[in-house]
Amino acid sequence: MTDLTPDLIPELTADTLPMAFAQLQLSAPLARAVAEMGYETMTPIQAQAIPVVLQGRDVMGAAQTGTGKTAAFALPLLQRMLKHENASTSPARHPVRALVLLPTRELADQVAEQVSLYGKYTNLRSTVVFGGIDMKPQTAELKKGVEVLVATPGRLLDHIEAKNCVLNQVEYVVLDEADRMLDIGFLPDLQRILSFLPKQRTTLLFSATFSPEIKRLANSYLQDPVTIEVARSNATASTVEQHFYSVADEDKRHALHQILKQRELKQAFVFVNSKLGCARLARSLEREGLKTTALHGDKSQDERLKALESFKKGEVDLLVCTDVAARGLDIKDVPAVFNFDIPFHAEDYVHRIGRTGRAGQSGLAVNFVSKSDARLVADIEKLLKTKIELEALEFEEDLPDIRKQGHINDGRRMYKQEAGDVPREEFPARRREPRNEIRRGNAAPADPFFDKPYEPSLPPEAAPPWEAAAARPGVRTISSNIKSKRNVAALFTSA
Ligand code: AMP
Repeated sequence: MTDLTPDLIPELTADTLPMAFAQLQLSAPLARAVAEMGYETMTPIQAQAIPVVLQGRDVMGAAQTGTGKTAAFALPLLQRMLKHENASTSPARHPVRALVLLPTRELADQVAEQVSLYGKYTNLRSTVVFGGIDMKPQTAELKKGVEVLVATPGRLLDHIEAKNCVLNQVEYVVLDEADRMLDIGFLPDLQRILSFLPKQRTTLLFSATFSPEIKRLANSYLQDPVTIEVARSNATASTVEQHFYSVADEDKRHALHQILKQRELKQAFVFVNSKLGCARLARSLEREGLKTTALHGDKSQDERLKALESFKKGEVDLLVCTDVAARGLDIKDVPAVFNFDIPFHAEDYVHRIGRTGRAGQSGLAVNFVSKSDARLVADIEKLLKTKIELEALEFEEDLPDIRKQGHINDGRRMYKQEAGDVPREEFPARRREPRNEIRRGNAAPADPFFDKPYEPSLPPEAAPPWEAAAARPGVRTISSNIKSKRNVAALFTSA
């Protein structure tokens, strides 16, 4: 699906889109860097965007991270800026010509790293500025002069106000992850930043979705853009095995342990919906013997970078994270992603599972669906236009009964025990009965609601399919909303 029609770009049609980097005739320093990165074939977004950006056109691109989006804009921008390349040490000879704006520090850091790799054999300079760390070293870099400035909006405004950078020679602006920038509330900052830039420029906007807000932003700031849409990670999804397990909140941690063990997973991302939940879950898992680190917005910049580094180096097994903190992180080969909480926004589901199965690798996405998540799963189903079938999960009995140690999503009990400095060995001994037995012993559940068969609140035609599935009578298992194990149709086979 693309607007890249022959009348827009006369010399390019779907059949003639270049697919090999060699076909682009990039200048020698860029071609060398690309070869060194090991890229031969362009990704779809690259094949479509690079020729358009090389022509100086504005672009509105629907592409997620993991699609090769960074090279899709960075390579043609560097190529176009090569005419300004010079070896002078004078800052005046290195004005900011390209500005790349991103919503989070991690993303900014990651994109800046890629830009500097692509430009390493040129004399074009690049740097990155983001909040949460001292401005001084960033100021020193800016004062030396840089052609490519990668930034988060707030910190860039601080530098503009401090007169650390001048943007009146900017020729190219990239609004990357624009939907997320709007979600975070960066619109006023973006508007201010764009007001400092020359009107005559090329603007590239990348967003996971083209919501009405994004379209308004594009209408205001893009001129006659070429719309490029790469298939919503269908290509990625086909390499990702996805499961939606019906799991009660208090069983989620147990389920996580079990799947890690059964699948022999060495590393995984575990997504939760809140910063507090993130910190608590990481703490609980750590106590249960999994090497875990947490990544959320309340962590200092230093802590966030350290958490990422230790995951990348394989020093930790699990990265428990929130959406904002983890959006777009380029960590290769994450074998699995767990949605410990189903995301509030269906788009985040696509982003989350985009962390695994990258670059053609196979991946696993495991979703823990509790009773209250039906609507959220319905939203995902609607977005992906795919039927989601809820699966049951049978618990092994030789795993530690984590459930007894506290509510998974509510690490308060664990936390208090820890704060009270009670050594773990002194916890009351856990019962060793099989889990089924434990549950059967609970003849009088605290709330009889949870023993009633499921009653959909919507008329049958409006009820999402998994609700009907969940309502089918199943054998009694450890949890009232876990039904007997049954074969589940493969989900999301490639489109
Ligand atoms: P991005 O979507 O820009 O975050 O890129 C995701 C990952 O794909 C990065 O690790 C890139 O280094 C890698 N990548 C980008 N383009 C290509 C390509 N044409 N071939 C192989 N890997 C690529």
